[in-house]
Amino acid sequence: MADLARMVEALRNPRLQGFGTTIFAEMSALALRTESINLGQGFPDTDGPVEIADIAAECVRNGPNQYPPLPGQPDLRAAVAEHQQRFYGLSYDPDTEVLVTAGATEAIAASIIALCDHGDEVIVFEPTYDSYAATIAMAGATLVPVILEAPAYELDVDALRGAVTPNSRLLLLNTPHNPTGKVFSEEELRAIAAVAIEYDLVVVSDEVYEHMTFTGPHLPIASLPEMRERTITIGSAGKTFSFTGWKVGWITAPSELRAAAMTAKQFLTFVNAAPLQPAVAMGLRLPDAYFAGLRNELLAKRDRLSAGLLAAGFDVVPTQGTYFLSANITSFAAAHNLPATSIEFCLALPEAAGVVAVPSEVFYQTKEAGRSLIRFAFCKKDDVLDAAIERLSNVN
Ligand code: PMP
Ligand code: GLN
Repeated sequence: MADLARMVEALRNPRLQGFGTTIFAEMSALALRTESINLGQGFPDTDGPVEIADIAAECVRNGPNQYPPLPGQPDLRAAVAEHQQRFYGLSYDPDTEVLVTAGATEAIAASIIALCDHGDEVIVFEPTYDSYAATIAMAGATLVPVILEAPAYELDVDALRGAVTPNSRLLLLNTPHNPTGKVFSEEELRAIAAVAIEYDLVVVSDEVYEHMTFTGPHLPIASLPEMRERTITIGSAGKTFSFTGWKVGWITAPSELRAAAMTAKQFLTFVNAAPLQPAVAMGLRLPDAYFAGLRNELLAKRDRLSAGLLAAGFDVVPTQGTYFLSANITSFAAAHNLPATSIEFCLALPEAAGVVAVPSEVFYQTKEAGRSLIRFAFCKKDDVLDAAIERLSNVN
């Protein structure tokens, strides 16, 4: 066995060294092992609408159960296009400008692999969702971070401009932003768009939390002038309909960019879960009340967890979107004799409190950054949030 392990290690793609197991899988395993309340990995503890699940169940029983068309079932592609039109006034041709993917994760991977070659640079805002760095590495490209400084996480336009080089190829945006909960303002999006246009960058915009904004409606960067033609926009049924285990996502993009992503996608998964696609199509056509309800429910949960954490002694960083919020651990750690750095703190927290959170330093390339911050997911039942708050309030 030892020899095999050495052999595998030696053969392993060096670009993947250092990525280990994702922090989310690690923290969920830790929660299971220690029987802790899991506010780490971002998934709801309540499934999405039963009428969506009913269609999936019916389709599993009666079909479609064979390979769907490569870009996804036509009706789901039509529903994605209708959704972009209905919420954002963006018009996409379902036949040539929409692609169904295995979750947003594959949409991101297919876009990066399709558009980046060795030596190309991808500009990302840091802290950065974990799959970005690994996927950029797999493509042989280089990640160039632009830091969003806590706690305001404001865009530094000069830093963004400073990050552009002749090798810059893509700008990878995420709004609402994981892990910070930041929603990029219209002014910031306009500034990003101006840079993308000036330097002729393609923007890959990860908008999986589009229906979880607490400061006003979501604004896709593709809806700004001259941006539709250079933007790949990404959505996720896992997030929008609380079925994270289904792994259905989508891309909307001009036909040339969609074609590029589809070339990569066809050799990543070829196609995805046929019987889930009619169900997701139905979800995308749900009345506005569903989407408003999701937002309002999460807003109440955000406030519930924020207030509880504050009372327990955490410095809570305000969150404008997503189902995550961050807290500074410095004073809590000092008061309870816990480690003051986020990884060590999160490893000690299950024993101290029976709660799992995610250490924010893993979202940074920059050493030291994010060390005082941890991320909690609040997409959980109220009694689960209350139990976590109680445990955190009673730490010795
Ligand atoms: N992007 C961001 C910012 C995320 O938080 C997630 C997590 N779910 C994903 C992409 C991946 O989404 P999916 O599960 O649809 O692959
Ligand atoms: N996006 C989720 C999070 O940020 C987790 C998804 C995953 O585990 N890959 O927690």
